[in-house]
Order: sequence, then C-alpha cells, then structure tokens
Amino acid sequence: MAGGRSSVGAPKGQRRIVFLGPPNSGKGTQATLLAQSVGIPAISTGEMLRAAVTAGSELGRRVQGVMARGELVQDELMAEVVRDRLSQTDAAEGFLLDGYPRTAAQAATLEEIVGERYTELDDVVLIDAPEDVLVARALGRGREDDREEVVRERLRVYRQKTAPLVDFYDVKGLLRRIDGDQPIEQVAQQVRASLGVRAV
Ligand code: AMP
Repeated sequence: MAGGRSSVGAPKGQRRIVFLGPPNSGKGTQATLLAQSVGIPAISTGEMLRAAVTAGSELGRRVQGVMARGELVQDELMAEVVRDRLSQTDAAEGFLLDGYPRTAAQAATLEEIVGERYTELDDVVLIDAPEDVLVARALGRGREDDREEVVRERLRVYRQKTAPLVDFYDVKGLLRRIDGDQPIEQVAQQVRASLGVRAV
C-alpha cells in the first residue's frame, strides 16, 4: 500500500482514530460508542484531567484553574499525559483519542508519538454542530465548567486554536465530516459508515 499507511506489523483491525469537534458536539458519546464497536480504548483527555482533579493529584492541582476557566492546559503538560497514556498496553492495539489534539503543537506531538512506533493516524472524525445547538446543550448539562461565560470561552478557544486542525487533517486525506446535529444513533451510524466499521 502506498506509503505503508496500513501500519507495519499491526494486528488486523488495529486502528488509530482521532475525534475532533467543538465542546458539546457529542464527540465524547460517539467516541465511546465507536470504541466499543472497534474494540479499542476511548481515551478522553478531558476525563483524565477531571479524574486527576477529583483525585487531588499533582496533575489535578496544576490543571484545575485552567479547566474551570475554559482555557487549554499547556501543550507540554498534555504531551506528558498523552505520551504516558498511549504507552500503556491496551493502546498498543489501537486507540481512539477524544479531546486531543487541540492545538497545532499537540497535533505535531501526536505525529511524533505515533511515528515512534512506525505508524500513522488512520482516521480523524470531525463531529460538528451549529453554535446555538452547542450552547443550548452545554447549558442543559450542568457540569462545573458549563456556566455560560465558560461555555462561550471554550467555544472561542475551539474556533481559534482547534478548528485549524480540520484543514490540517483534511489535506492529509484523513478527515471524515459528520453532522452532530442529529439523534445519537444516527450520528453513530454515520460515524461507523464513514470508517467502514460494523455495529456490534
Ligand atoms: P473536554 O472534556 O475534552 O471538553 O475537556 C475539558 C477541559 O479539559 C478543557 O476545557 C481543557 O481545559 C482541558 N483539556 C482537555 N483536553 C485538553 C487538551 N488536549 N489540551 C488542553 N487542554 C485540554
């Protein structure tokens, strides 16, 4: 296969997938559903960080304020978190990343980490929805970083720092665009279809 994209020496079915999209696009839900279908771990950096905050670990103490304001945790710290998580054995069979990368620097770090195993990302799934839908969903959810001003800040940060990754992955031919403003099962079915994955 041209460029050896189909992962040298990888077990059949192994896949490295990134989920991209604004806060409240439903990508977390979809990432979990898809991971079950493919049999790979869904790795949510947001959930890892929230768990660290709840546990009161050193990482949690470092990221708490930044998260509460809807800003991004610094790239260097995220690189450590993700490198460590992807080196665990369950991720050797492929992984689905939800919430990483979120900046151009993070995308470069991910290429580096994946490249160290002589492999590349296989697919990037973008789940998007109109801004009024995203805000309405966030305000109906009641998480601590869901106050309206924080919701708006998270969206602003997404548009400014993360949205440029859409073109970055599109140019590489990896991007699959899915309309997130539909019922969960319909989105899930379109995600699977875009990746050629069967429902389980
Ligand atoms: P999420 O659940 O993915 O929306 O993440 C919740 C919060 O965790 C974000 O608003 C950020 O403060 C932080 N966070 C999660 N992933 C990242 C990342 N890749 N880079 C920087 N900050 C992150």
